[in-house]
Amino acid sequence: MDLVKHPRFPNPNPGEEETIKGDPSQQNATDAVYAYFDSYTDKLLTCQKCGRKFYFFAKEQKYWYEVLGFWNDARCIHCVECRTKTHKVKKLQKEYELLQKLDNPLPDEVRKFRITAKTLIKIGCMKDRSKVGKLG
Ligand SMILES: [Zn+2]
Repeated sequence: MDLVKHPRFPNPNPGEEETIKGDPSQQNATDAVYAYFDSYTDKLLTCQKCGRKFYFFAKEQKYWYEVLGFWNDARCIHCVECRTKTHKVKKLQKEYELLQKLDNPLPDEVRKFRITAKTLIKIGCMKDRSKVGKLG
């Protein structure tokens, strides 16, 4: 079985999934249909992006619902690798947008723009190579 490895948490052996206590006073419930979490258990899920199995760890769940303030009906559908990749792409796209708007970019900014654009093309998130060509 192809199981995604989390950079912070080791995958448990089958039957040894961790369960930790939840604190309902720290959770956000959308409506009564979704119960508050009294506890969290490591959950084995399938990533909707890459199709691999991954653990949504009890500690991650507690962090999502009690620290980050995610609503209790929010579900984890992507593995940690796909989530990290999405965050990186979003950050690059934002950077690209900002650099593109500069009227008189400094040499360092031009260089950064080119690298950002090339990275986006390389990972298949930007098709238009002509935009990069404009800046050399
Ligand atoms: Zn994935």
